[in-house]
Amino acid sequence: MKILLVEDSATLRFAMRNYIIDAGHEPLIARSGEEALQLLENTPVDMIIMDVEMPGLNGFETTRLIREWLAGHWIPIIFVTGLNEDENYREGIEAGGDDYLIKPVSFMIIKAKIRAMERIAEMRDQLNQLNAELEALSQLDSLTQIYNRRTFNELAQQQWALAKRHQQPISALMIDVDHFKLFNDHYGHPAGDACLKKVTHAIKSCLHRSSDILGRYGGEEFIVLLPETDAKGAMRVAQAISEALENIQIRHDVSPSSTYVTASIGGATCLRTTGHDLEELIKNADRALYKAKRAGRNRSWIDEVATHKTLLLADTDQELLRHFSAHLQPHFNLLTAESQKECLELAVDLHPDLILLGTNIANTEAGMELCKILARTPKTAAISIALVSSSSNSSDVEIGKKLGIANSFDKSLSAPALLNKIIQVIH
Ligand code: GH3
Ligand code: MG
Ligand code: MG
Ligand code: MG
Repeated sequence: MKILLVEDSATLRFAMRNYIIDAGHEPLIARSGEEALQLLENTPVDMIIMDVEMPGLNGFETTRLIREWLAGHWIPIIFVTGLNEDENYREGIEAGGDDYLIKPVSFMIIKAKIRAMERIAEMRDQLNQLNAELEALSQLDSLTQIYNRRTFNELAQQQWALAKRHQQPISALMIDVDHFKLFNDHYGHPAGDACLKKVTHAIKSCLHRSSDILGRYGGEEFIVLLPETDAKGAMRVAQAISEALENIQIRHDVSPSSTYVTASIGGATCLRTTGHDLEELIKNADRALYKAKRAGRNRSWIDEVATHKTLLLADTDQELLRHFSAHLQPHFNLLTAESQKECLELAVDLHPDLILLGTNIANTEAGMELCKILARTPKTAAISIALVSSSSNSSDVEIGKKLGIANSFDKSLSAPALLNKIIQVIH
């Protein structure tokens, strides 16, 4: 152990230092209370042996400061003193000392006391470790007392298996508090915690079946699994949650989108679980949440999923976006981006199966840069890219060549032809 010896007398310092070494420990020396405090700022120690009578800060005062300072982290402190009145003993223990030795102290006594304290410190370490393990074993999130993410996943897997066996639909809702960072910054973290508890309560009040599972998925993100629930049912629950939040009116004076705390909700429904898995359902709910956020927050967006591949359509030309959206919307889970920055963000966050990049973006410096970043970012490197343009002309082929993109589709393609080509690229 590293033992800090605080002693103003040079003779005693020398003797005690040797005792510590002979007992098999590493001494660290301070000649005053002030020096001890300074030393402790940079060097963690396992135990302190403290003289009481010292000029400047005495041992009791120094100990009070150390205890205040190390609140939450206990280390043994043993006083060594010439004061042998009962009152001195009481004061020493009150100041935060763990033992009190009267000078002169023999080597045997010091060695035995160090051993006794060492044993207590070991027990403290074991206790800390057990507490950590207990926390990890716990099924509940400690703030909100609903399932933590791990437990949610376990229970949700069981419900998923049931849905599969009974060929029942199943839905998931991802609920994210809007502008919660601003809430925390404005009202403080404890108020943020209290807010999350109220939000939990509001969500709970909307879940009526015993098979519904609610979990805390991340900081201000909740997840609900709704077995035997189709998209319509999921939307009903989502709307009930928004209404419950509206009813409790937690003030949010700095929210850009509302005067009270709201949430955006993304939902996904799987009508036939065969061929799909729970992760896919949750990923789709997450994508839907993203859409709800982008559509302005405080709203719900439910996708009927999983059977659909995800396409990301990006261009600066609204007309082009409209044209291709109309063709693709019914057949794919379609995301749109109106700038190269947005395209990159969505590609990284939601990993679509294919990016359809408009030539208005592709044929710019920024577009070129975007393709390079997509290619070298691990999360997006495997995503296929195709060009889309307003009219067929040979320059598209040139742009494609420059960017290393083999496929390009233009507006003259009929909807079925476009669909066929896209399916060929994805599969
Ligand atoms: P958005 O509307 O886009 O969701 O914005 P946001 O601010 O809610 O989202 P962002 O992800 O930027 O910030 C989430 C914040 O939630 C960050 C963190 O300060 C806060 N937070 C996360 N967990 C806790 C918690 O347990 N307690 C408190 N008080 N705050 C938390
Ligand atoms: Mg002294
Ligand atoms: Mg969030
Ligand atoms: Mg949020």
